[in-house]
Amino acid sequence: MAGYDYIIVGAGSAGCVLANRLSADGDVLVLEAGEQDDRREISVPIAYPELWGSAVDWVFQTAPQAELNDRRLDVVQGKMIGGSSSINAQVYLRGHAADYDGWAAAGNDGWDPDTVIERFERIEDGPGDHYGSGGPQQIEQQDSPHPLSSAFVDAAAEAGLRRTRSLNDGDLDGVGFTEVTQQGHKRHSAADAFLKPVLDRASLTAETGARVRRVIFDEDRATGVVYEQAGETERATASEEVILSAGAINSPRLLMLSGIGPAEHLQEHGIDVEVDLPGVGRNLQDHPIVYLPYESRTDDTYGNADTILNLLKYLLLKRGPLTSNGLEAAGYWRSDGDLAAPDIQFVFSPAYLENGDLSEEHNGFSIGTALVDPQSSGRVTLRSADPSDDPEIDPQYLAADGDFEALRRGVRKAREIANADPLAARRADGTDTPDRPEPLIRSGTIPYAHFSGTCKMGDGEMAVVDDRLSVRGVEGLRVVDASIMPTIPRVNTHAPAMMIAESAAEFITGGN
Ligand SMILES: Cc1cc2nc3c(=O)[nH]c(=O)nc-3n(C[C@H](O)[C@H](O)[C@H](O)COP(=O)(O)OP(=O)(O)OC[C@H]3O[C@@H](n4cnc5c(N)ncnc54)[C@H](O)[C@@H]3O)c2cc1C
Repeated sequence: MAGYDYIIVGAGSAGCVLANRLSADGDVLVLEAGEQDDRREISVPIAYPELWGSAVDWVFQTAPQAELNDRRLDVVQGKMIGGSSSINAQVYLRGHAADYDGWAAAGNDGWDPDTVIERFERIEDGPGDHYGSGGPQQIEQQDSPHPLSSAFVDAAAEAGLRRTRSLNDGDLDGVGFTEVTQQGHKRHSAADAFLKPVLDRASLTAETGARVRRVIFDEDRATGVVYEQAGETERATASEEVILSAGAINSPRLLMLSGIGPAEHLQEHGIDVEVDLPGVGRNLQDHPIVYLPYESRTDDTYGNADTILNLLKYLLLKRGPLTSNGLEAAGYWRSDGDLAAPDIQFVFSPAYLENGDLSEEHNGFSIGTALVDPQSSGRVTLRSADPSDDPEIDPQYLAADGDFEALRRGVRKAREIANADPLAARRADGTDTPDRPEPLIRSGTIPYAHFSGTCKMGDGEMAVVDDRLSVRGVEGLRVVDASIMPTIPRVNTHAPAMMIAESAAEFITGGN
């Protein structure tokens, strides 16, 4: 049985950062259930929707969502080197000060805005002096945003949003083009940034197709994992720590399969209880999003981007529509003027999206409205003790009082933006969305795939990890990924997940 200092489960946004940082001074084994990231749809920025539902996605679904016409919704989660950072829309956003103020106010020491910004800056190499420079993660401006995206920015400004130089420059209020995790206008995933450059270290072993089934304990200390690879059952041991970075669905799932979770739920499935932690799998949060699509006057939208000419432009010059992440501009707004921070994010796509999917029939553009400070939360539970059974995922979208109304106001504002001159002038005659958005919200809201919170950091009864991300009640086990977020930040969650891993590396190498 192979022995290491650290075992990291999952090579996603957080796992890749940790692999880089911990292997600088320790023997590290990274176990990734998925395979390599060598499909062209991963590196070509606009192509990622083609990966959803494929072998590089876990292909989960939610339970029926009561507020959304009882629909089951697709839950995309990356399953390959780079994890969800290899399948995501590449938007890079750090968060609002209110997000991290909230984490710190809940008693989490070292997670205040001033401290986390230093960690963001360490991982970044971005455009403009508000970013860090020289860090591994490349952040770029959009190469050639579509004229419709510029029209969206103009229309949002006309509807009262402030123009920003960058949404990461100060607070989030305002509207501008998104900045993206790309290098030379190709996707720059966490694997490209953090893992691949250090794979030649003798201290780093990275295995793919290695699916961890459970954590092994010696009394109350985590000492290793059992995993499956190429049909064989393998074991590996860690003298220092086992670290779960399997993402907000799979990390709580693994804890529960290893006997850490709500005791009653584990016993119901015949799993021996190692630690009764009622919060494992609870507090599941995401940003519900709904798109308003409009037909455009011209047909040069991204529904038609897939041409030989555009492919050649991309292959030879790394220019043109294929360099787009599909969500080229974004804006923030408050559904209630008394709120201390925005609770609505608008995203703009120069493509006609029906329930988030590219329409085959229509050409146009879409404004997405996401509720980014949701009060609703749901849960991830096991269906059985069989590690191959998909977990039950129930985000309970829009279930909490106030969420539906906030999203409704956001959608009405999105419609106001679409009706402002710069966009109205580009809409096809007669194309509009209904004045009453309720039916569209119920039939069209989908996950934004920013799943978080299921192994919450804190010190209350429902907390799973402490503020050093160590799992309560055992030794030698941490969770380091989007699951530890006590509340979901108001932004897309890749940058925060990497910041969480950078923080953990600091705690681990600093000896706490
Ligand atoms: C379709 C989509 C679009 C998104 N768009 C954006 C965006 O534009 N900007 C943004 O900031 N965020 C975006 N996100 C969210 C963001 O990518 C995620 O929040 C972030 O990547 C989560 O990082 P993580 O480390 O928690 O998990 P992940 O990156 O998902 O990594 C978890 C890894 O663990 C592996 N794993 C799981 N279980 C096991 C096991 N049992 N054994 C071994 N390995 C295992 C998985 O295969 C995966 O590689 C998007 C997400 C999706 C899915």
